[in-house]
Amino acid sequence: MGINQIKAFLLDIFFPKICLNCQREGDYLCPDCLSTLEILNFHQKHSTRNLTDLYFALPYQNINTKRLIQKFKYQPFIRELAKTLASLIIAHFQLSDNGENFSDFTLIPVPLGKKRLRWRGFNQAEEIGKKLSLYFKMPLLRGALIKIKETQPQVELAAEARKENLNGVFSVKNKEAIANKKIILVDDVYTTGSTMEECARILKKARAKEIIGIVVARAKPEEDYFQNAN
Ligand SMILES: [Zn+2]
Repeated sequence: MGINQIKAFLLDIFFPKICLNCQREGDYLCPDCLSTLEILNFHQKHSTRNLTDLYFALPYQNINTKRLIQKFKYQPFIRELAKTLASLIIAHFQLSDNGENFSDFTLIPVPLGKKRLRWRGFNQAEEIGKKLSLYFKMPLLRGALIKIKETQPQVELAAEARKENLNGVFSVKNKEAIANKKIILVDDVYTTGSTMEECARILKKARAKEIIGIVVARAKPEEDYFQNAN
């Protein structure tokens, strides 16, 4: 057993599945709380300079969504939660059913820096990506896009400082794996949009053909720096 498997095993013992919203035992989201989340049943097209489109299951304005996201951003970090989060995304696709075909896309998780990865034990975006990869039968490409510089959490920074904060943070390690590919960037939350935008910009520079984003939840547009910048 690897260290991460042991960690997961211990977490399962000490943190039995409890609803993140109401603390009821059984699952990370009990049916009652799930029903209050308002999973979007339509696709809201959203494109930026480097993203063709963005798919998200939950609008962040919903108070229960906000609470859920705050919980999974902080400790304890539960790897298995990715299954619940991915199922929200899948439910969104099923409810909106636009017949999206992602069969020629490759999934890439928004990477974490080494330090943060060690601290958290896993990359939640990557865990969600694994589940989506199985569902959509798309390959998941790990280690091609990497984070080479630690950053301050974006939320603690003003809009101007955010872009600065991301300068030289991401890098493409394997350019051949990216060139001419249609890519889906996966993350848990699209808050300011600046992290995903910077990842997409770096992938474009490595000659990616097209990039779309998939996240569990999206913040209000007026909180989005790139929207304001346009
Ligand atoms: Zn609940």
